[in-house]
Parts: sequence; C-alpha cells; structure tokens
Amino acid sequence: AMATTNTNTTTTKKLLDGLLSSEFDEQSSCVSRYESALIRKESQHKPSGYLQERLRKYEALHKKCGAYTELYNQSVRHMKSNDSTENDDTECKYLVWISYSGLGNKILSLTSAFLLALLSNRVLLIDNGGTDMSSLFCEPFPNVSWILPLDFNLKQFDKKSPYSYGNMVKNKVIDDAAIGVLPGYVYVHLSHDYEEEDKLFFCEQDQLLLQKIPWMLLRSNNYFVPSLFLIPAYEDELKWLFPKKDTVFHHLGRYLFHPTNSVWGLISRYYQAYLAKADERLGIQIRIFDEGTGPFPYVMDQIFSCLSREKLLADTDQTNQMVSTKVIGKSKAVLVTSLTPGYSERLKEMYWEHPTWNGDAVSVYQPSQEDHQQIENHSHNMKAWAEIYLLSLTDELVTSSWSTFGYVAQGLGGLTPWIMTKPVNRTTPDPPCKQAMSMEPCFHAPPFYDCKAKRGIDTGAIVPHVRHCEDMTWGLKLV
Ligand code: GDP
Repeated sequence: AMATTNTNTTTTKKLLDGLLSSEFDEQSSCVSRYESALIRKESQHKPSGYLQERLRKYEALHKKCGAYTELYNQSVRHMKSNDSTENDDTECKYLVWISYSGLGNKILSLTSAFLLALLSNRVLLIDNGGTDMSSLFCEPFPNVSWILPLDFNLKQFDKKSPYSYGNMVKNKVIDDAAIGVLPGYVYVHLSHDYEEEDKLFFCEQDQLLLQKIPWMLLRSNNYFVPSLFLIPAYEDELKWLFPKKDTVFHHLGRYLFHPTNSVWGLISRYYQAYLAKADERLGIQIRIFDEGTGPFPYVMDQIFSCLSREKLLADTDQTNQMVSTKVIGKSKAVLVTSLTPGYSERLKEMYWEHPTWNGDAVSVYQPSQEDHQQIENHSHNMKAWAEIYLLSLTDELVTSSWSTFGYVAQGLGGLTPWIMTKPVNRTTPDPPCKQAMSMEPCFHAPPFYDCKAKRGIDTGAIVPHVRHCEDMTWGLKLV
C-alpha cells in the first residue's frame, strides 16, 4: 500500500496537481513535462477542480476538431465560402493565434488567446511562425496537434485588413451583417497599436456577436486577460475557473508551455551545473529600454541599491576587514539575465573583491550575452526561453519594468517579484525597486471604455481585482 501511495503522490506531483493531462505517453513524449516537477518547487497554488474539468473538456474538443480532423476539413471548406450561416451545423469553432513579436509577448498573448478559447468554446490553433513555435514548445494537448496547417495566408491579416473587426465596425459591414449574414471569419487586432473600434472587442455585446462567427484570427502582443475579467458574460465562468484571480497565468502558463527536449537540455544542464547545489537562488532580470550600449552606471547603482534595501543579497564589507574563512554563511547563487554582460560582471567582481558581512558565499552566473534582440533566430530564441525558465526556478526574483520576459518568469515560478522602477532621465530611481502586488503579468494596452455608457472610464477602478500595474500606470493587472 505504501508503494501505491508513493506512486500516486509522484504522479500527482508530475501532473501538477491535476493541471496536466494523464493522456500523454511518458516514454515517447516531451521530457520537460515530467521532469520539471523534479527541479521546480511545488506550487503553493492548486488548480481548482473546475479548471481541471474544463481543461479535460477542452482537450476532448481539441481532439474532435483539431487540424486534419473530419470536422476541421469541413469547417475550412465553409470558411473559404466566408459565410457563417452555412456553419450552423458545425460543432467546431476556431481561434487562430498569429505568431508575432518577442518571445515574452508571444507567450502572454497566446495564453490570453487560450483563455478566450476556453471562454468561447473555440479550438485554439497556432501559427508556427516558420518552425519557431514547435522548436520551442512541446504540444500541450494530447493526441491532436495545435499547429495550424500551413495552407493559410496569415500575412494578409493586419490592422488594415478589411476583415478586421474594427474595420468592419467602422465600415458598418458588421452592422448590416448582424441583421442578415455574418461573415465566416473575422480577424481581431489586439496589438498595442489598435484603434477604438478594435477595442470594442472587449464589450459584452460585441463578444456575443463574435461568438457566432466560426473562425476568429487573432494578432496580439499583449496579455489581455485583465480586460476579459471586465466582461460581465464571463464573470461567473472566470470565478469558477480561478477562485484565486491572480493565478491565471501561473496555471495556464504551466499548462501550455513545456520546453522541447533541446531547450530542456539547455535548462537542466545549466540548472544542475550552477544552481541546484546552492542553498538559495536569486534571479535578476535586466532589461534596458534606454538607447545606447550599457552597462549604465545608474542601472548598476539601482541594482545594488535594490538588493541591499530589500535584503535580497548580503551587503559587502568594503573595508575588507572580514578575512576569516571560518565564517560560513549560506551559498547564494545569483542568476542574471541580460542582453549585455556588464551588470553581472560587476556584481561578480563585487562579491569576489569583498566579503559579505554575514559570511554568505555569493556566486553570479549569466547564461548568455546575446547583445541585441533577434526575432527569427532559432538558437537565440531557444536561449531566451531557457533563460526565462531558469529565472522561474529561482526562490526570489528581481525584474525590470515593462518587460514581458520577466512577467513570464515570475508567473511560471509563482513568484511575486521586486520590480525595478523604470529610470527617468538616466538617473537611479528612488525607491530603486518595489515588490509587486501579484505575480500576474500586466496588460500594457487596455481599453478605457464603458461599453454601456459609451464613454471613457477608468477600467482600473471598476472591480477590486483589476488594478493599474506597478510598472506602467496605464496598464491593468489582476491582483
Ligand atoms: P520584452 O521586450 O522585454 O517585453 O520581452 P520579449 O521576450 O517579448 O522580447 C525581448 C526579446 O529580446 C526576447 O524574446 C529575447 O529574444 C531578447 N532578450 C531580451 N532580454 C534577454 C535576456 O536577458 N536573455 C536573452 N537570451 N534574450 C533576451
């Protein structure tokens, strides 16, 4: 009986308390799905029973309607005739996520798309972006792929497309159509540069109408989940799915994003070699949006000052009086991620040249120095993904303002980070950093519109769980 209990606990742990499906074949599939539980601390947040149930239901729908299934082929034929009335008999509705922007942005918009798919009973299919997505992420759903077959021309769907919801509203196509015939597909543009008409997407009326259109194509570089929480039609469902509202990305992110075996190699080798044996791990994610090549002294000061004020790392004795090697403190591994090497070099130097007051031994590691952001480069993106994941394995995390790279790390790790305030005029901000209200990502471009009253409103002041972000005053986040 002992053995069975142990196996059960291991399985439960591996499947992240029921978040993951047990239908995958452990032998032949993606290693990270099972091994992540070995190196990641157990989450303090359990997925609700209802979320588990909905995920299993979604997986069944995906299996029935996914790419190349009979129902899928039928639905594609209907879409090509662009008429939703012909689709009355189809059970499958689709949401196509278009690959776009940096890796952090991608992960966040894809998670938002998946939640939207759950809420509107659509099947999520993703644009592979060449082979980018499949080289980074394992298939999240058992049996049937989530990759959209290649015979779709997605380039035509951008802000200017006549098929965009915003443009259809502007041109009154959707008005007329709503009375008679709705189109067979619609493109929704939810990127930072979207227009007032596009933002109507977040109104209940428009959601109800959009639900009748079998194919939805979506391009976004944002975590638009907070605004979904302001749509009354989804309120009940969201309450059941996420009794704790600040766990949306934590659960859905760990459900969807499993590193492929080659990325898992990067992660696990690095973790075992540099991080596993330390008593404590601290992550520092440095993302600079100022022009010019760093390291900038005002950022370096900010990092030191944040670490010291928040007691994230022991202070050093600048007088070097402590020379005894007998004072043994903890071993602390610091994982720095940055496009430039300068910051971690300085930090490492500091803890080599000077002792810590409490005897802590501080080691500093930075996996890569890629210099600049690259969008369509495999090995670059694999390293970026590995670094995001490694940051998520730390015990405490310091992040940079405005960065989706950091948001993903904090969410996967279940960490409430210390966010470094964005420097203004190239000076060290005071305070240098502040602990976030929650581990949720920030929606950088939310609408400020009251759909009923048809005028502007502060959407960060409607309900207590949707607030303005710490790092971007006009953004919204779940708390
Ligand atoms: P954001 O721009 O900070 O919101 O994050 P994104 O992930 O969307 O885009 C930034 C891109 O720059 C990443 O996807 C990487 O390609 C690259 N990048 C930025 N910071 C780092 C870093 O610390 N390490 C690595 N390897 N790449 C980075």
